[in-house]
Parts: sequence; structure tokens; C-alpha cells
Amino acid sequence: MIKRRRSKSIRIGTVTVGGNAPIIVQSMTKTDTRNIPATISQIKGLAERGCELVRVAVPDQEAAAALRKIKTNSPIPVIADIHFDYRLAMAAIESSVDGLRLNPGNISEPENISKVVRAAKEREIPIRIGVNAGSLPKALKPYASKAEHMVDVALTQIKLLEKLDFDLIKISLKAFDVPTTVEAYRQIAAKVSYPLHIGITEAGLPRTGVIRSAVGIGILLFEGIGDTIRVSLSSEPCEEVDAAYEILKSLSLREHGPTLISCPSCGRCEVNILKIATAVDRHIKSLKKPATIAVMGCIVNGPGEAKEADVGIACGKGKGVIFKKGEIIKTVKEKDLIHSLLIEINSLSMLD
Ligand code: SF4
Repeated sequence: MIKRRRSKSIRIGTVTVGGNAPIIVQSMTKTDTRNIPATISQIKGLAERGCELVRVAVPDQEAAAALRKIKTNSPIPVIADIHFDYRLAMAAIESSVDGLRLNPGNISEPENISKVVRAAKEREIPIRIGVNAGSLPKALKPYASKAEHMVDVALTQIKLLEKLDFDLIKISLKAFDVPTTVEAYRQIAAKVSYPLHIGITEAGLPRTGVIRSAVGIGILLFEGIGDTIRVSLSSEPCEEVDAAYEILKSLSLREHGPTLISCPSCGRCEVNILKIATAVDRHIKSLKKPATIAVMGCIVNGPGEAKEADVGIACGKGKGVIFKKGEIIKTVKEKDLIHSLLIEINSLSMLD
């Protein structure tokens, strides 16, 4: 059983982050924010997939001006991602965004930092301090590790906000390197109680990026660290959401749609398991409610797994036995297996 770190809870629009709230799944749009219809459409797609918070890049005033319409049409809270220019942050706040990702240290004039923080405070808009290993300021003192440097930068930024009596803070400390990321989060988790957004930055293409993220995010979650997660992939953003939920489901931290258990197949298998598992996987993607579906190749582990699942098959030579809720309900020929299995999956009353 994972014991989660006790963090302060904050509200980002309609979503609670930290405290006893579930670990929230985030992603980021990859459209040009100035293209309002494309951005809204991508956000709706993400929300449909289960994304609960979305971040939108705000590189200039035109993008900032687009935020109001984006925010109005978004089914989930919108976080504006801003660097350097405090006027973009002010415009985002004016557009009623639900959160800011902003490093106060990136804004040169203290007076401008105060303006942004005052406006965020008035509207109760949280600020995420996002320290990234790739853009650390020059070290002014020796550090034992890059992680320590990252933590020090975050603490400096936190102090800046706290001095302005602002505590609606969320923190992230991301690196591409997993050990650095894990060390940084462990250190900051021991020093402050603000909620933590965790992830491995620039994790890469899905094949490697999902693994890298699962290792880094998984270690932290297992240690009870993390209140929101993002899997950063060079891919369609919905893939980030799918991967995030698989990580959370693997640790029994969230339920989300059906889970497929499928055997890897081996020399004992006498049906095309890959074809069956692929068809089931494609089908269950659109289903919302939790269930377990087992696709097993032979009698070695097949009946056991299939019996435990909500719906399962244990295959034999050219045929398969279908189980539902622990009971054998029928035996079907290989050519009918996929069709029969999908019918049983659909018939589970717990599924949409
Ligand atoms: Fe091989 Fe059977 Fe195990 Fe599948 S369930 S991997 S076919 S032994």
C-alpha cells in the first residue's frame, strides 16, 4: 500500500490538487495557441481521453489574447505557460485562466513580479514554479549535484512568492535524467508541503519516452511523492494521457477504463494471440469504466487469469474458452473469438 506524502491542497479551477485528492493527469496542447479552433479541439480530445488539467503555451500577446476564448470553451481547467514577460501573465490572469506556470525568477523587475502575484492572489489563481534541469541559472555556489541546484532554485522562487504572501503554489523539478529527477523531488518533498507536479521532461518518442517516464514517475509515486503527473512525449498529446493512466493504474493509484491482461504468447500457443489482444486493446480504448480483460494463450496460466478477470479467454488449439465474472460461459472457434469476446466485453454492465 502506497502512503502518499501529505501535501497542501490547492484548487486549480474545478480540480483539487494535493491533500487527499486523487493524483491528477495533465497534458499540454501542441497546437499554435493563436489557432483558437485547433487548440479548443485538441483540449476537447484530451478531456475526452481523461486529461484533467491542460497547459497551453503563451509565447506572445496574440496567444494571450486567444486564452479567453480557449478558456471559455475548455471542459477542463486551463493553465497558461509563461516565460519572461510579465505582461503575458497579466493578460492570462485577465482572461481568467485557472493556473499559471511561471518562474518569478524569469521576470527581471521585482515590481513586475509583485504585479503578477497580486493579481493572481486576488483571483486565487495558483502558480506552478517549474524548474527544468535544462534551463537552470548559473550556479552561484557549489552544489553536490544538479538535483541540489534545482531544489535550491525552486526554494528561491518559492521564497519570492511567500514574501509576497502568496501560497497557492505547485512545484515541478523536471530533468531528462531519471536519477536526477528522482533525487530532486525527494529533496523538495522533504523541505516543503506544496503539491508536486511530477514528470520526466523531454522523455522522447513513445517507445522510449513511456518507459523512461514510467520508471521516473513510478519510483516517485511508489514513494508517495506526486500530486499531478504528465508524461511528456514527442507524440500526440492523447498518448501522454493514456500513458499517465497506465502508470497510475499499475500502482493502483487510479482507476480508468478497462485494463488488458494479455500473455506474451510462446511455443505453446495455438491461436494468434497478438491479433486477438490488439483487437481487444483497440476496442476497450473507447470504454470508460474500469474492468479487467484477460487474453491468454493456453492452459498454463490462461484459466487462472481469465477466471480472475471480468471477461477473459483461455485459448487452446484453434479455440478459446470464454470466462465472465469467474464462470465459463462458452467455448468458441478461433475465427469467432474476437467477435464473441467483444460482445461479452460490451455486455458487462459496468462498462459504458
Ligand atoms: Fe505461453 Fe500459455 Fe503463458 Fe501464453 S499463457 S505465454 S501461451 S504458456
